[in-house]
Amino acid sequence: MYITKKLLRRPRPFKDESLSGYIIRLAQSNYYPSPSWIFKMSSLKKRGIYANLFYSHEDDLQKLSLLSEVEEHILWSMAWISPRQSNSTFMNTVKIFGDFVPIQSISKKRVKLCPICLRSAPYCRSVWELSFIKHCPLHNCLLIDSCPQCSKKIVDSRPGVTICKCGFDWRNYEPETVSEKQVSLSKFVYNLCRIADFDSEIINSYKNPNPVLKLNFQDFAYLLCSIVKFGNLYQIKKRFSNRAKSLFHSQDSESCFNFAFFVALNWRSEFQKLVLSHKNCLDSKYKGSFIKKHNSQYYVNLFRDIFRCFPKSSCGFITNVIEDYFWNFLVKTSIKNVEISGIKQPGFHFFNSPVNEGKSFLKKLAVDLELEELTVASLFATSQVEIYNRTIFFKMTYLMDVSNCIFTGCY
Ligand SMILES: [Zn+2]
Ligand SMILES: [Zn+2]
Repeated sequence: MYITKKLLRRPRPFKDESLSGYIIRLAQSNYYPSPSWIFKMSSLKKRGIYANLFYSHEDDLQKLSLLSEVEEHILWSMAWISPRQSNSTFMNTVKIFGDFVPIQSISKKRVKLCPICLRSAPYCRSVWELSFIKHCPLHNCLLIDSCPQCSKKIVDSRPGVTICKCGFDWRNYEPETVSEKQVSLSKFVYNLCRIADFDSEIINSYKNPNPVLKLNFQDFAYLLCSIVKFGNLYQIKKRFSNRAKSLFHSQDSESCFNFAFFVALNWRSEFQKLVLSHKNCLDSKYKGSFIKKHNSQYYVNLFRDIFRCFPKSSCGFITNVIEDYFWNFLVKTSIKNVEISGIKQPGFHFFNSPVNEGKSFLKKLAVDLELEELTVASLFATSQVEIYNRTIFFKMTYLMDVSNCIFTGCY
């Protein structure tokens, strides 16, 4: 039986090593031709994509612990742990560095590595598996995800940590160097995850109160994934990808996180650039001051979709900007009134206000109705929204405390 035997060579894992990378290293140092041997001996399912993703309810690391003489809790700490996955991608999370973050935080398609880091110590850094990390901030270079010799994608089922199936040793490759601008996200993430302590000119150039720079890793991961989701809305997508291309030469969804970070840091000005101009929705018949009737539902849906991208309360500074834009948009499109209606026992109520006082109206109404909070985002989440007679209507079933049900279930 395999399991009673320990492996002949049992290298200790490094603190920042990924479990999937460690399994490759165990196979290599014991002269197995591929890591699938170790998977077989430890009765673990072979991984495809999401190589370092292990399921707490399904994977048992006990045999691997016996084989390698590494304590089980250490092995678990090297893995990205996921609870049971649901069918909705946006609901799925993964535990990274102790925090549950959206599953989109890890790279789906690619195994990435830094040839220069491998030269200094040949093991796989778990941080390379984050989708936010495209560059090595230690060496200001691009991580490689395909072999420079055979051009094939780098995969986990390979003969060695640094060696491709074609025999090329990636340590012999000189990776492309990148600019300070391109590496700033990686630097920021390395700092957040306490992997290194970088001083970044670009990040420092943002004034201290920039709320993005105060987020913890979990909130930051949610923010970046939210912005990417926002950039994927069909009404936003084209502008988002054009701007990402021109600023960061980003081609695909996995590499747009650099731009998402830039958008987050410059949210007020970038949001203005990325949403459609209000002028497009005005009716020329009325000298361009009224919202076109057939367009009103389009804009209602657009704002609802945008708010839905930012369900986390830590994204409050983002939704504030959208709300300001929203009120401004209504004023410019000659919508005069806002009306909120719904049942609050013992009867049905409605409240209205001129649109140009909309913001203070919501604040006052929250106090009057004894609600914790009343925001445009929460109204969009809980109301039927309609525009007619130069009025925007938020028709709620019940005038209840909506602060807790802001688009729950979006992640
Ligand atoms: Zn490196
Ligand atoms: Zn190769």
